[in-house]
Amino acid sequence: MVLYFGESEDYFCKYVQANQVTKEHGIAMDKKPTYEELEKRVQELEKIGSEQKLVEEKLFEEIYFSQTLLQAAPVFFVAINAEGKTIMVNETMLHSLGYKQEEVVGKDYLTTFVPEKNREELSKIFDKLIQQKKPTLNENFIMTKDGKELLIEWHGRSIFNKKGEFSYFFGLGIDITERKQVEEKLRESEERYRSIFENAVEGLFQSTPEGRFISVNPSFARMLGYASPEELVSGTSDITKQYYVNNEDRQRYEQLLQTAGFVENFEYRVRCKDGSHIWVSDSTRAIYDRDGKTARYEGYVTDITERKRVDEALQESEDKYRIVVENATDAILVAQDGVTKFSNRRAEELTGYSAEELSNTPFIDFVHPNDKETVLDRYRRRLKGENPVNIYSFRIIHKSGLEKTVQINAVLFQWEDRPATLIFLRDITDRKKSENALRESETKNKALQEATFEALFFSVKGVCIEANNSASQLFGYKHDEFIGILGTDIIADEFKTIVKDKMLSGYDQPYEAIAQRKDGSKFWAEFHGKMFEYQGKIIRVTSVRDITDQMQAKQELKLLNLKFEHEATHDPLTGASNRRAILDRLSGELVRAKRGNLKLSIGLCDIDHFKHVNDKYGHQVGDDVLCNFVKTVQNTLRPYDLVGRYGGEEFLLVIPELPASSGLVEERIYERVRARIADHKMVTRSGEVGITISIGITSRSGDETADAMIAKADAALYRAKENGRNQLAFSD
Ligand code: GH3
Ligand code: MG
Ligand code: MG
Repeated sequence: MVLYFGESEDYFCKYVQANQVTKEHGIAMDKKPTYEELEKRVQELEKIGSEQKLVEEKLFEEIYFSQTLLQAAPVFFVAINAEGKTIMVNETMLHSLGYKQEEVVGKDYLTTFVPEKNREELSKIFDKLIQQKKPTLNENFIMTKDGKELLIEWHGRSIFNKKGEFSYFFGLGIDITERKQVEEKLRESEERYRSIFENAVEGLFQSTPEGRFISVNPSFARMLGYASPEELVSGTSDITKQYYVNNEDRQRYEQLLQTAGFVENFEYRVRCKDGSHIWVSDSTRAIYDRDGKTARYEGYVTDITERKRVDEALQESEDKYRIVVENATDAILVAQDGVTKFSNRRAEELTGYSAEELSNTPFIDFVHPNDKETVLDRYRRRLKGENPVNIYSFRIIHKSGLEKTVQINAVLFQWEDRPATLIFLRDITDRKKSENALRESETKNKALQEATFEALFFSVKGVCIEANNSASQLFGYKHDEFIGILGTDIIADEFKTIVKDKMLSGYDQPYEAIAQRKDGSKFWAEFHGKMFEYQGKIIRVTSVRDITDQMQAKQELKLLNLKFEHEATHDPLTGASNRRAILDRLSGELVRAKRGNLKLSIGLCDIDHFKHVNDKYGHQVGDDVLCNFVKTVQNTLRPYDLVGRYGGEEFLLVIPELPASSGLVEERIYERVRARIADHKMVTRSGEVGITISIGITSRSGDETADAMIAKADAALYRAKENGRNQLAFSD
């Protein structure tokens, strides 16, 4: 078949139709027919029968289809004749290169499309196509109309006619410019990452969530003592067991990855090839597949063993120094730029300021105004390196306002890489004070003795510095023996703490406590202390007054009151609550029961035929029976049940806190009382007497008052008596 390219589609159709006719009718078509000729032939064709027409139509369709395919396929088609002239270019190629058909058809292919550098090479390919008749595949540059170069993958072949003579070259080209670029970029980036992976200082790894390594880099293998990444990967079948020292670390790690999708600087210990352990810091990301399942972990690991060792050593030495510093008896401070940068606990005690307050206040602020000049001068000279006296004493002002004398020992040193002063302060207030006190005691003593008859006790920080004659007489210490004893030495053990607190806190109200003499004997005393300043020192003076008599009277009054109170609420004969008291208690219990929605039951007991007891044995025996009755009932009831004498031989039982629904417990309690009384003989002065009782019972319903309940119980009691006594009766 000969194809004519570069004609219109219409022409092409006619041509095909005509050619068909020609073939079947043996008409030769050795030259390109004109349109008119074609039309004529077609008319001839139309005369041919319908069967034939059908075949033609089919054929036409096929060719039309091929042609469309040729033009529209997203690949280049080009045909070149023996002279190297382009005879056909498809739409795709024209479009991509920016040409119109007429600009290229009939033109020299090489000069139109092929960059100069490739032309020679292409000529060779053409030669090959003709001589070897084999299809070729090669990549070549092709120029667009505006001079751009596209890289095309060409599938070339030669078309020969029936006689085997060369007709034209046919080429199918695929634009691979972009693909090539992408491939190149991909290759470059892969290379880059490979290089990072291979040369990174950190250990890089990929692993499966199940616990196998997919790949690791040389650093990772080296870190764990393996000769190569391959050795580590193939040698590890279970990361949890082989790589982790503690399984829990792995569990935590997996948990984090599952919940957050990553871990950062996760620190744990791992096992090396030789069994030794190292600390690592691990940062890992979970990588997911398309279904959102964890496909693998990717991360990097650094060896932090050395850092951990240093941390631990540092921690240890810090701990050691902290213990020394915190427990030092001297106050230790670090001053830098005139501010306290560090202070220990003793420094807080010495100054009365917290570490935080200390750090916000220039050290010089704590110094006594009269000593500021000296301290500052020495400080400045020390900073200049003049090294003035390092140990000397001066006064500071405690937060409470108290003045204290301290001995300082200061040295220059480096604190956080800058010059600072390390200061040790020792509290020598007491030493100074006792020196002074000793000097002054003589004159002071005289004045005090004459001032009052009251026992006076002088102390500084709880230590006695002076006491007068009255105190000596009261406590039995000689004057000299008083000096230096503690304030608490004259207090009975059980009051020592209370008194010490009051002395030190400056409590200035009178209070009572048991005092103790030198011989150990004790007495109630009233103490009244006051702080005053004497020659720049805070002294506490405490007066002590023996109040034994007063306390005794108080005690008796208290007992008397208790007795009155008891009598007011108790029946003098039986000791049970009296009528008023039991009714009060009942009202109270009623309120409580209502609030808690509890069951409350009362039972009114009356001794059966008590008159007979009196008549037979006398009134006193009757009294004995009543007392015994109360004791027996009290022993039978629960501790929180109440018994009160309601009338002569009538008693009211109040039974609170019963199970709300069950009447059984209630009945059992009363029945036990009844049975006990009936079974046990009452011991009296004239021997044993047997009695029985009847009980009328009711329990709280709604907002009922105590009176209403008692009325109901009374009615029930009446029924119990009616029915023959020695029994229980419940209200309706
Ligand atoms: P019952 O209750 O079974 O109907 O007969 P009873 O004999 O107990 O009758 P009642 O209640 O009328 O009599 C109560 C008696 O209790 C009257 C009184 O002499 C006596 N009594 C009241 N108080 C005392 C007391 O403090 N001591 C003595 N010994 N007897 C008292
Ligand atoms: Mg009675
Ligand atoms: Mg009675």
